[in-house]
Amino acid sequence: MTPQYRRILLKLSGEALGSDDNGCMDPSVLKQLAEELIKLRRDNIEIGVVVGGGNIWRGAEAPWLEASTSHYMGMLATLMNALALRAVVESLGAPSAVISSLNVTDLVDGLTTRQAIKGMRAGKIVFFAAGTGQPYVTTDTGAVLWALKTDADVVLKATKVDGIYSSDPMKCAHAVRYDRITYTQAIRDELKVMDLTAFSLCMQYRLPIIVFKLTPYSNIRRAVFGEAIGTIVEEENNAKTSSQRCRNTHEKGC
Ligand code: UDP
Repeated sequence: MTPQYRRILLKLSGEALGSDDNGCMDPSVLKQLAEELIKLRRDNIEIGVVVGGGNIWRGAEAPWLEASTSHYMGMLATLMNALALRAVVESLGAPSAVISSLNVTDLVDGLTTRQAIKGMRAGKIVFFAAGTGQPYVTTDTGAVLWALKTDADVVLKATKVDGIYSSDPMKCAHAVRYDRITYTQAIRDELKVMDLTAFSLCMQYRLPIIVFKLTPYSNIRRAVFGEAIGTIVEEENNAKTSSQRCRNTHEKGC
């Protein structure tokens, strides 16, 4: 099988690292994620991962605290997650690096785009910490910026649900899951793909986004190898044939 994408930017939320049994960071979750990334690396996929910090701290959720400080604390939370992931990958014998948008040189392997690309080309699994390095935004925006800066082929947004639906599938039994949509449709129908700043950057630079369910973790591989998993958001021309395919499926009563 040939991979669909050679250089990927995976966005993991901080919550994906925890579990009901093991709180904000579950070692077995980290190990399974690391193993999956290492498998991809063996297929020469260049891997960047932006990790969130919501399992530890989200800036906007502490209104009692001065806002900038709270957001910087959120960025530090992403750094903790990235350091843990790097350590787990390395404990499994694979090379890894943390690139940070905040200047914490004692803790990380680099701060720059050049260092990130060099690491990815050398086969390191690169974890991006501290989002954009600026308060008031989220790691979704960090993910898209790092994808653009490292010239990634795709943003893989791993979530709890298996794609983008016409409405909330938990509330509406008739919600339809899209296999492909255009940027314009996502905006028109107010489908919350990722935060708006991040999404408009993808639209502007025609960077495809695949929204898919993180578990089982082999889903990451399936997305990279172009299996029809989750929902792909892309530009009009690419999406045309697939919207057609989607409609045909509905016509068959699926
Ligand atoms: N954050 C920030 N700037 C960034 C990225 C993150 O200020 O560029 C802060 C923000 O407060 C955010 C927190 O870090 O709530 C954790 O990131 P995020 O909420 O994106 O984590 P996730 O929900 O993906 O786990």
